[in-house]
Amino acid sequence: MSDADRIRENISAVRARMAKACERSGREVDSVRLLLATKTVEPERIRVAIEAGETLVAENRVQEVKPKFEALEDLNYERHFIGHLQSNKINALVPYVSCLQTLDRMSLARKLQTRLEREGETREVLIQVNTSGEESKFGLDPEDVEPFIRTIASLDRLEIRGLMTIGLNAEPEIARPSLAGLRQIADRIRELNLDRVEMRELSMGMTGDLEVAIEEGSTIVRVGSAIFGAR
Ligand SMILES: *Cc1c(COP(=O)(O)O)cnc(C)c1O
Repeated sequence: MSDADRIRENISAVRARMAKACERSGREVDSVRLLLATKTVEPERIRVAIEAGETLVAENRVQEVKPKFEALEDLNYERHFIGHLQSNKINALVPYVSCLQTLDRMSLARKLQTRLEREGETREVLIQVNTSGEESKFGLDPEDVEPFIRTIASLDRLEIRGLMTIGLNAEPEIARPSLAGLRQIADRIRELNLDRVEMRELSMGMTGDLEVAIEEGSTIVRVGSAIFGAR
């Protein structure tokens, strides 16, 4: 089988897993989007997936964003960023993505606001939450999410659309409480009806735990190795 055929077959398999999980949890299949996590994947392999019908792609490393954008410029697809963003890399990222999924601190929010104000633009953001309690993971502690969102809601260039988490890197059933926890935080914030704050996206679930994430309410599963192979 060619590499391109394998990518297409892998996508079908992931889509089938997603459909089954949706069915099991009484959700519509189109209530969950598949995001291709394409760190280290060459543009020509990403092209295969987009030409097979995929529409949402995200990078982790700022230095991969522009070259891949340029290599795939003739294609129509949505680009997000899912890596840790250093403030001094904002200018190298903002022109190429519609959504930053990893907003996790005030200093970054303020710098984004300043940059976007200057350009007369806006960007969607998700707030990254550390639901696993692991020290090595980026993201806000769960109890800090509400005060953070209250503060950044006044930054009019940032469109707050939901939450993102990486979750516990463990057996799916062990990861489940941390994924359910993200949904509970979003539910609580939604009930506050804060001005300019929408909690419609829950970005959670990866190759190993996408079924559990969908059962717990994910609207975006981020999948890399199940489609492009081991990194
Ligand atoms: C790499 C990555 C993924 C995809 O992980 P896989 O286990 O390869 O599916 C999802 N989210 C983030 C933030 C990543 O860095």
